Amino acid sequence: MIPVNEPLLDGNEKKYLNECIDSGWISSEGPFVRKFEEKLAAAVGRRHGIAVCNGTAALEVAVAALSLKPGDEVIMPAFTIISCAAAIVRSGCVPVLVDSDPLTWNMEVRQIEAKITSRTKAIMVVHIYGLPVDMDPVQNIADRFGLKVIEDAAEMHGQTYKGRACGSFGDISTFSFYPNKHITTGEGGMVLTDDDRLAERCRLLRNLCFLPKKRFVHEELGYNFRMTNLQAALGLAQLERLNEFVGRKRQMGKRYTELLSEVEGLQLMPVKTEYAENIYWVYGMVLKDSVAFDAEEAMRRLGTLGIGTRPFFWPMHEQPVFRKMGLFNAESYPVAERLARRGFYIPSGMALTGEQIEEVTKAVKEVMKG
Ligand SMILES: *Cc1c(COP(=O)(O)O)cnc(C)c1O
Repeated sequence: MIPVNEPLLDGNEKKYLNECIDSGWISSEGPFVRKFEEKLAAAVGRRHGIAVCNGTAALEVAVAALSLKPGDEVIMPAFTIISCAAAIVRSGCVPVLVDSDPLTWNMEVRQIEAKITSRTKAIMVVHIYGLPVDMDPVQNIADRFGLKVIEDAAEMHGQTYKGRACGSFGDISTFSFYPNKHITTGEGGMVLTDDDRLAERCRLLRNLCFLPKKRFVHEELGYNFRMTNLQAALGLAQLERLNEFVGRKRQMGKRYTELLSEVEGLQLMPVKTEYAENIYWVYGMVLKDSVAFDAEEAMRRLGTLGIGTRPFFWPMHEQPVFRKMGLFNAESYPVAERLARRGFYIPSGMALTGEQIEEVTKAVKEVMKG
């Protein structure tokens, strides 16, 4: 079986982890946490990095830090992971959706303005699968309407938009370090911002809102979302290799594209757009309408050939949990709906070998013959 993801941990990971164990620093108080925060913030050109226990927690802290009011609306893509909408709903706000671009699968920026009401307070941008959202028009709308921008860059380590690092856009941005991301800490995440006050709020929210001068006294409810020194040690070792990792992923994407571009019925990821070159967080594909079966069937068939796959995101407006809350009633986002049913991704982890790529593409061709 070729797994859908396997990370590469053969740099300084062991060395740094041993330092944690030898020194006894394993909690969030250890020195790797600050180091990792500073290095990542510097790598994307942000003033502050606040490490947390996962990417979902990072989004939750980011939204909470903006101090939005109950009932405030946040515009976001329908096609994304539930963490984005969950952070908005948990803060008492209302997620408002836009559909995806059928080629890049990113949020359709041209639909944002029509969704703005007097209650809109923020736009949550989510870069999907390897190509960034077209940020200039988003920031332009945000400036004109006085909206905050939250950038979910979980899948964008090492990516740039018009030469500027993803994770440096908007008022506040987030990363995840889950093992399928370009750099991993096992579980982990980070919030980044240039705003001193927002950074301070994130640090408080991450750590139960202990008052700095009066521990165990709380003016607000926070979370324990702290990252451990062990996780940060891994993160630092991984970050040292970010450029190499992005290179590997681009090479992988290039090879898959060469081998699969002639296969009938497959829509592959664009190699680039006007503003970025794909970094292939995952190697995804969408079955064209001419194909008689759906993604579920394609994945089942690939599974019998020993190839690991994952389905695409399931859109927010079709989530039973949100429907039960009365959200997104009778709304439809046809591109997101189609991506969910006809899209899937194939093995594309950092440790994937050239031979495995050949094997995977052979299986994909077999399955596409019908
Ligand atoms: C992975 C991911 C997250 C969540 O990160 P976790 O660390 O798994 O909680 C959030 N947003 C996007 C776009 C992601 O891909």
